[in-house]
Amino acid sequence: MKNSICILIAVLVFLCMVTADVSAGKTKAAAEKKLTQIDESTKLAYEGGTLPLTTTPVVGKPDRKYNPVFKPGTEPLDPDEIRVTILGSGDPFVKRSQSSASVLIEVGNKERDFFFFDLGSGALANFNGLKIPVTSTTKVFLTHLHADHVGDMPTLVWSLAKSGRRDPVEVFGPAGETQKLGTSSYIQHLQAAHAWDTESMSGHPGQSGARAIAIEVPYDKPAKIYDRNGVTISSFPVIHIMSGAVGYRLDYNGSSVVFTGDTRPSKTTLEACKGGVDLLIHETFPSPKVFAKKASIPDEQAELVVNDTHTSPIAVGKVFRKAEARMSVMWHLVVDHETVGPAYKEMRSQYNGPTTIAQDLTVFNITRGGVVVRQAIIDPVAWPVIGKSNITGPPLAKPLNPPGWWAGALFTE
Ligand SMILES: [Zn+2]
Ligand SMILES: [Zn+2]
Repeated sequence: MKNSICILIAVLVFLCMVTADVSAGKTKAAAEKKLTQIDESTKLAYEGGTLPLTTTPVVGKPDRKYNPVFKPGTEPLDPDEIRVTILGSGDPFVKRSQSSASVLIEVGNKERDFFFFDLGSGALANFNGLKIPVTSTTKVFLTHLHADHVGDMPTLVWSLAKSGRRDPVEVFGPAGETQKLGTSSYIQHLQAAHAWDTESMSGHPGQSGARAIAIEVPYDKPAKIYDRNGVTISSFPVIHIMSGAVGYRLDYNGSSVVFTGDTRPSKTTLEACKGGVDLLIHETFPSPKVFAKKASIPDEQAELVVNDTHTSPIAVGKVFRKAEARMSVMWHLVVDHETVGPAYKEMRSQYNGPTTIAQDLTVFNITRGGVVVRQAIIDPVAWPVIGKSNITGPPLAKPLNPPGWWAGALFTE
């Protein structure tokens, strides 16, 4: 009897060891899985693909280990770490596969600060799945005022105040050549347009958060515009249709990110990358040929859109070669089976370094040792996470009185 118990225990121990070995092997295999090429057959995120569009998901020697996919809420940032999440990778024609322009940057400082860079339509649907406190959605940096970069601003200012934010939103953005073309004017009119929503929040606990404060940055020269809690952000002018478009560089604890917004290839971007940059997120449109076919427009018009207002894959490859970022990112590119292959190939004709094509929820973890690229898997039905808030006082106004005519109209049976 004693013998058979011993044998049983030995068998169980052996089985446990085998199972542990197999699962460790699986984890290892999954962590090492990566695309070896990017072409028309590559599985994309909106089809359930979990691999980022890069053949080099690990650059350098990252300071920590990461799971193969990013599951929000499971990986607190290290103090010296930056996490960049693409909230919107698409273009003005917003679709289920891609939200419009937006990038989120989180830093590992004590305050756990995070920053929105642009906020196109659909960006906040992706943000909500990241389990980050809605209470702290207080800092936005707009590159320019095209609708595909600001479409979710009303949702941020008014709806997220209803969801828990108590502080107003600071909105940094370019000045215009005339007052009416600047960010201050945009915010002033946005608030005027939402007068009904603001008024309806009288007495609502979120009333104090349903406000925006504009801070304009120069449209024609670089400027240092933000310096708090170990994070500095500077702006630089870019070339996009007319004055009033800028890019940004964020520096934190020896790591850095440059985000161009919409631009033609520009020296100002290269200047902003000087001294080294970990992540360069540069706008990229499909080549005129591909764009004409996809957008059903004549070749000449496509040529104008792509080369006179944006950056083609060939041109972005040239910028990447000069900028020498640790990881370069093609962003604002419509991602489907007809665009990805040619865009990647054309970029590769100019540049051989580590490059990623951004999709919605592509995530970059930056430490001094290296950069890691993954896709995030989010909860599509997430409710807002409420964090700490500074403003704890009573609502600013009394609740509204019901209109007199409601008494006769209300169905109360
Ligand atoms: Zn634009
Ligand atoms: Zn755009």
